[in-house]
Amino acid sequence: MDVIVGIDLGTTNSLCSVFKDGQPKLIPNTHGSFLTPSVVGLLEDGQVVVGAAAKELRVTHPDRTASCFKRSMGLDRVIEMGKQEFSATKLSSLVLKSLRGDAEDFLGHPVEQVVITVPAYFNDNQRQATKQAGEMAGLKVRRIINEPTAAALTYGFHDRDSEKHLMVIDLGGGTFDVTLMEIFEGTLEIISTAGESMLGGEDFTDRLVSTVLKKEGLHLETAEMTQPVRTARLREECENAKRQLMTEGKSRIRLPDEAGTFDDSKVFKLNSAVFAKIVEPLMKRIKDPINRALRDGDFGPEKIDDVILVGGATRMPVLQGFVTDFFEKEPLVTYNPDEVVALGAAIQAALIGDDAAVDEIVMTDVCPFTLGVEVAKDFGGRVSSGYYQPVIHRNTTIPVSREEQFGTMAANQQEVLLMVYQGESRKVADNLCLGELRIVDIPPGPAGTEILVRFTYDLNGLLEVEAMLPSTGKKFNTVLTNHSSSLSSVELKAAVREMQKLKFYPRDELRHRRLVLYSERMVGEVGSFHRQQLEDAIDVFEHAMTLGDRSVFDSARLSLLMTLEQMGVGYDEPDEPDEDLAGGNAAGGSR
Ligand code: AMP
Repeated sequence: MDVIVGIDLGTTNSLCSVFKDGQPKLIPNTHGSFLTPSVVGLLEDGQVVVGAAAKELRVTHPDRTASCFKRSMGLDRVIEMGKQEFSATKLSSLVLKSLRGDAEDFLGHPVEQVVITVPAYFNDNQRQATKQAGEMAGLKVRRIINEPTAAALTYGFHDRDSEKHLMVIDLGGGTFDVTLMEIFEGTLEIISTAGESMLGGEDFTDRLVSTVLKKEGLHLETAEMTQPVRTARLREECENAKRQLMTEGKSRIRLPDEAGTFDDSKVFKLNSAVFAKIVEPLMKRIKDPINRALRDGDFGPEKIDDVILVGGATRMPVLQGFVTDFFEKEPLVTYNPDEVVALGAAIQAALIGDDAAVDEIVMTDVCPFTLGVEVAKDFGGRVSSGYYQPVIHRNTTIPVSREEQFGTMAANQQEVLLMVYQGESRKVADNLCLGELRIVDIPPGPAGTEILVRFTYDLNGLLEVEAMLPSTGKKFNTVLTNHSSSLSSVELKAAVREMQKLKFYPRDELRHRRLVLYSERMVGEVGSFHRQQLEDAIDVFEHAMTLGDRSVFDSARLSLLMTLEQMGVGYDEPDEPDEDLAGGNAAGGSR
């Protein structure tokens, strides 16, 4: 079957979708939820768990879990989990593998092709790493698409006859993107994009954690290393408090002790005004990309017809208040901000698959940053290097291929090392180095011997660089790979083999493992009086899981659920998803 599924590979949550019966639909995971936490964990016996079960494990055993690894995509960073080491690419591939399993269960046939969304501001290394994560999960990545573009596709699909200018503001768990676009007779044209790949909802939580710890005389970085369980529990408290502000305008943060136990006497009171003060520096960073995208499109805020909010963190009242003031209009949240990107990925899959339901839609995207090379300048005989010469300017419509002419610096120069950069600064030192291309065997000639350099930026946002010597016709080319985290095809095959050695916790039992992990976490919450009773109920359920006797199992599960309920820490398992919601009509913020 050549169905292409859409995947929103998020910092905190990931979602999977498919285009079916003329509509984009979300695919539920084994827990019946559309949101799969982008968390990976290792159980005590080394088995891998992904998603909700790993998120439970993170609170009690942060050392055996990994989360927020999307922020390390494309970096040569080693992430330790238990005694094993992983790259962000490998961890992402485990999440993709889990989503692939969910899609196969849902569709009833194998899934081999995907569209994956990435933040518009992801650079070449981060995009390559995402593509390789898909390949490691055994998937053919048909397209990498920008998250705000996917969100715009969802709006455009349902509103294709309108004529308007939209601003998509996408604040996810770890990244921030702003996209200005126009819808006109079924054509969705991206005009400009700006963003920050290191700013997201998790930074807002971090600031809260750091403020509370500071009151205890502790620094976040130090506490994470010396008191990991305490910090993990406090983060959970801060995350909940941050979310509660949306509905209640105030909340309380309990401060756990070093062992992670809560003593109700230590509480930090939070309200919207205090939160706004704490996150003020982050809100300042939000404004810059919005202004840049407007400037690049030669627009003022008054020309925007609709502001669309995407990503869970846009639920923060402080963000919504800012957007309303800035654009002098209420933002649109017609679709659930967690789901709108995944739905758009399914529409992109339908476009690739030539589905008749999307044949009137045309989509154009842009290259979000300037791409260029390092050049040297001659100041009257004094040569100075380190200057940046753009080849493709930011917000050029893609796909694009541009050629520039360069020359050798010295007479009879035989080699040139072409250094490729991304960024907006005049000097390369302030831009991001994407890679290099060595041009050799340049025939003898005067200084200024011609070299033609062509940059091709494709629909996936991946850059190919080609150089040509007109004097000989010789060509040199490369798809850029600057980082050791970027793998050659041989290395990729080895990585796939290595991944196959990992033992996954059986998918159909994940729901039960998650209940055990949740209950274990609650052991530290319920206080000494109930502790033994809860531990006994967990032991009985865990034992029942190994017996294979359905009635014993059901009664042990029920008994554990009732024990939790009686202790005031009832287990909240998501309901089976509603088909209508999966059809993409979920209005704002249902969680
Ligand atoms: P995503 O990458 O789209 O999954 O973004 C998830 C981010 O949204 C996380 O940083 C969450 O803390 C944040 N988030 C989700 N719901 C809320 C809420 N009600 N209030 C504040 N932040 C939220």
